[in-house]
Amino acid sequence: MQYKKVSDNIIQELGKIVGGENVLSEDIEDYGHDETFLLKPVLPEVVVKPKEREEVSEILKLANREIIPVTPRGGGTGLSGGAVPIYGGILLSLERMNRILEIDEDNFVAVLEPGVILADLYKAVEDRGLYYPVYPEEESGFIGGNVATNAGGMKAVKYGITRNYILGLDAVLPNGTVIETGGKYVKNSTGYDLRHLLIGSEGTLAVVTKIILRLIKKPEKRCFLIPAFDDLEDAIGTVPKILKEGMLPTAIEFMLGAAMRLCQDYTGISLPIPDVANYLIIFVEGRTEAEVSDLAERISTICMGNGASDVFVVDTERDMRNVSEVRSKLGFAIKELGSIDIGDAVVPRSKIPEFMRMLGELSEKYGLLVSGSGHAGDGNVHFAVIGVGMEEEEFMKISPDAFRDVFKSSVSLGGTISGEHGIGFIKKKYVPIAINEAQIDLMRRIKRVFDPNCILNPGKIFD
Ligand SMILES: Cc1cc2nc3c(=O)[nH]c(=O)nc-3n(C[C@H](O)[C@H](O)[C@H](O)COP(=O)(O)OP(=O)(O)OC[C@H]3O[C@@H](n4cnc5c(N)ncnc54)[C@H](O)[C@@H]3O)c2cc1C
Repeated sequence: MQYKKVSDNIIQELGKIVGGENVLSEDIEDYGHDETFLLKPVLPEVVVKPKEREEVSEILKLANREIIPVTPRGGGTGLSGGAVPIYGGILLSLERMNRILEIDEDNFVAVLEPGVILADLYKAVEDRGLYYPVYPEEESGFIGGNVATNAGGMKAVKYGITRNYILGLDAVLPNGTVIETGGKYVKNSTGYDLRHLLIGSEGTLAVVTKIILRLIKKPEKRCFLIPAFDDLEDAIGTVPKILKEGMLPTAIEFMLGAAMRLCQDYTGISLPIPDVANYLIIFVEGRTEAEVSDLAERISTICMGNGASDVFVVDTERDMRNVSEVRSKLGFAIKELGSIDIGDAVVPRSKIPEFMRMLGELSEKYGLLVSGSGHAGDGNVHFAVIGVGMEEEEFMKISPDAFRDVFKSSVSLGGTISGEHGIGFIKKKYVPIAINEAQIDLMRRIKRVFDPNCILNPGKIFD
């Protein structure tokens, strides 16, 4: 596709739409990357910050007329390069569309603009005794970015993922047309559900401008359980046993002892747990103290009956914060080890030990450290390929092949290549491992229907 450059005239036209102060072509380095590891930044030609849906529509009409690429951007916390403007053009930052339009306590619904920061959303609803339970961890991400990536996070075991909470979306198509899907209701059998096509489409089909979000009642009490296991199979084997008993903790994470040590060293936080080979981190929530302690006790009994040497209960606010902090810093801690790249493959949760064994074999095959941890409750293994003490140039010669083999392994076990981070442009070369040409072709044709001039986030998910 041949795109036009952003000329002075176009910059003036953009200024008329959003105001000159919201059109930037200098000091825009922050808009050239997201949080993807090893990503080389690519700067847009211009950054535009609309405040209203109509402005988004006018910007897209202009870009579509002139054939200029437009990359939507939320909080820039993505891990697959989705918000990186690889063809230059216009970077459409949704940061000024950050209003919480309504919190409807009767219908358990929040109506939001896409630029609402997750941390603000959690606070606003929890102040009213309500809860948005999807927790993709990085609280500086925007709700619009979460919709576009169908973000998940550790609480998916109990509560599900972003898709399960979207009642309606307003969006602007690449030609500027506005569509409004869904509403403040749960049931909807009115034709194709375009809302679900837009969720997870990574800004390639439309720009999301309003989100109608389902909320639930806030669980007031919580605690962490940290069972310690010598054997990984025992640890992972405990997960289905807990679930089969009808117990539903909010999150079940697994972490190798080495990773736990690394994170404690990195954060300087020492958790009151022994040094063992494997841990589960189980998060329990409930309406009352009695409900939480009953569930915690029953889960602990199952863990002890399945090879845990001990189960540590963490129930003070300070210690729970420490556990969250230690767990969440794994990505940063392993960065210190050398050149590193990360991914989030998925396997059926019973296959996690086999997948971990395969990662061990790949370590030997490539002379790299390939290891995983993550969401044991839903099979989403966050893996890292690490060239310990290795220069980036040398690492880059080997790591794509190692990555390819990791994804082949997850797919061979009945899984897929990304559970929550999305494809962006970083992982698109691996997509054919997971889905066949007929599906990719169907996706391409859907893209063409929405965006015949291919101006919206081109080069993402597939070429
Ligand atoms: C430390 C860390 C931990 C993380 N943990 C998790 C986790 O547990 N689970 C998880 O799911 N993710 C996780 N992430 C990844 C990231 O936070 C999510 O992908 C998040 O959904 C990205 O939101 P964002 O607003 O930053 O989007 P961005 O990175 O700005 O954009 C992501 C994609 O969405 C598109 N987009 C953004 N806004 C819109 C819009 N309004 N309309 C259309 N398209 C749009 C962009 O074009 C891009 O393709 C983590 C990231 C970090 C840095």
